[in-house]
Amino acid sequence: MKKCKLCKGDLSIEYGNCKDINFSISNEKFDWYKCKRCGSFSIDDPNLSVSEYYKDYKPHKIDVSNLPNSLSIFIEKILAVYSEDDKFDIIDVGCGSGVLLYQLKKKFPNARLYGTDVTISPAINNLSDYQDINFFESEIKDLSIEKTFDVVVSSQLLEHLDDPETMVEFLECHTNSKSLIIFDIPNVESVSFKLFGRNWIHLDTPRHRVLYTRTGLNYLFREFKLTNVVYTGSNLSLWSSFCNSISVNLHNNSLFFKVIRKVVIKLLDLFVVPDDKINFTLSRNK
Ligand SMILES: [Zn+2]
Repeated sequence: MKKCKLCKGDLSIEYGNCKDINFSISNEKFDWYKCKRCGSFSIDDPNLSVSEYYKDYKPHKIDVSNLPNSLSIFIEKILAVYSEDDKFDIIDVGCGSGVLLYQLKKKFPNARLYGTDVTISPAINNLSDYQDINFFESEIKDLSIEKTFDVVVSSQLLEHLDDPETMVEFLECHTNSKSLIIFDIPNVESVSFKLFGRNWIHLDTPRHRVLYTRTGLNYLFREFKLTNVVYTGSNLSLWSSFCNSISVNLHNNSLFFKVIRKVVIKLLDLFVVPDDKINFTLSRNK
């Protein structure tokens, strides 16, 4: 019987036969399991090769100078410990487009920056003006950096990992009791997930492999202390999940669709505080 990757609890199928509804790259179907103990969700398919699902991956093609609100929390949390002129080492694990590294470079010009991802070319291309950033193209488990970092940031990566324990091992090797460790991930306990379930935009089958409840996070990071939890996100996720649920193409570029989207999101922003992402800090003091 399949077991939860976080707490080893029993699993049961929650959403069967899910397809890639966000990008429609193929018609392949996958089952999402829910853990009976910690409530976290996972896809567990040993034959699944996800690389084809990252071809033409839109999140890698964004304007890195435009910082989403959900990422400004990283800067605020670092500013609570370091000043803008300080010299310190930061690694962005799963740096994707390089959007967070770009913002870190602007805010902390004296910091030594490191970025790693399984596909590093989008970040290198977007940050070609900054030759002093150290890039590594590698899976986390294969990273060959002999170093302890003052700050580890990782945005929207943990949910893509087949084996989340590799992140724990990375932190055990590359941080110390003074390191500041900041993550953000989709919030599977959000209102938008409760409303839209299998059509939730952040299910993102099959690129996302594990979706963590707070209980699941505490099992995974049992040697760490989870603090400073902030719920963030955008009401775009409500709109996008709604479109998925009525089979409307999210990538419709018509003016009519764009206007409707803008009006709906402006209205939602008046009444709904988004909570589709969770930002948390880990410390090794436990
Ligand atoms: Zn579990």
